[in-house]
Amino acid sequence: MLIHSSSLHFPFPDAPKPLSLTEVAPGVLWLRLKLPFRLDHINVYLIEDAAGWTLVDAGLGDVAGLDAWSSLLDGPLSGMPITRLIVTHHHPDHVGAAGWLSRRLNVSLYMGEAEYRIAQNILLSPSALDSEDHRRFYLDHGLDAGITSEVVAMGRKYQEMVTILPSTFCPLIPGSSIQIGKRNFVILSGGGHSAQQLMLYCPASGLFFAADQILARISPNVGVWSADPNGDPLSLYIQSLDDLKGRMPDDVLVLPGHDLPFRGLHRRVDELKDHHKSRCAVIEVACEEAPRSASELTGILFPKVQDVHQMRFAFSETLAHINTMVTSQRLRWVKAHGYPKKVMSLDPEKQ
Ligand SMILES: [Zn+2]
Repeated sequence: MLIHSSSLHFPFPDAPKPLSLTEVAPGVLWLRLKLPFRLDHINVYLIEDAAGWTLVDAGLGDVAGLDAWSSLLDGPLSGMPITRLIVTHHHPDHVGAAGWLSRRLNVSLYMGEAEYRIAQNILLSPSALDSEDHRRFYLDHGLDAGITSEVVAMGRKYQEMVTILPSTFCPLIPGSSIQIGKRNFVILSGGGHSAQQLMLYCPASGLFFAADQILARISPNVGVWSADPNGDPLSLYIQSLDDLKGRMPDDVLVLPGHDLPFRGLHRRVDELKDHHKSRCAVIEVACEEAPRSASELTGILFPKVQDVHQMRFAFSETLAHINTMVTSQRLRWVKAHGYPKKVMSLDPEKQ
């Protein structure tokens, strides 16, 4: 979702054109790859390393994504050996081309252990999401059968966008550090958007590779998925935002996975927290009027959703707000009359 932000500073207001590189700090290059979604691009970064360049994130591994990499490797990157590949999290736009790149370049893949395992899990068992438990999760929350069928087929879509990963990898351990060229980066992790999304912070250079944890004008998806139906990723996300704000100065250069690099981390953290607070308030008002299912609340929070891809994220995000409100006892689940069997609804906890 787009959130207006007027208080940030964008030192590089023009995104790099396809097949071109923008230097955002000495020895740090930014390039963009196209995505076939409403969010139509991903940022990847090259960091100068001892014997070449470390690549941060890989883009999609579909035909267009791999073609773009071939053009880059044969073109502007031809004299620039990539010696290491870091992937921040398992989402297809970040890990998609990683397996292909690691084989083509003969380089090791560095990832957080949880994120590597999740990616492997989906790749090795793409139809697991299409099981009765997962279907029930969506149907019980009031999603219609047609959308549910499409949503649970997403595991196979993942396989179309993510190339086979190498069977060995180098785990990056949150809290430890990694030397890349002359810079030392602290490896950070945060929940909410993904189980263990990794970020890199170099205090000496004031550089923060934020992946999707904090973006300039978009609120990253924070969602509850069918594998963890009662999870509270929004609390984890808010904790992570507080941790980042406490750890870094406001003027750190944030290099995110999407949208523009920016300065103004503290303000952006505050805006994102306010955004989620106001979403919870909308849910509370809606549930004061009447008990609501999660799918009804999705329609209230996201009235403009157009396709199944967006609906999947809108529903997961709505449920993240619901679950955090249930956990904090602002709402409770009730059985409501007039709903199909097993569909649960909400009403505010009566004090
Ligand atoms: Zn992501």
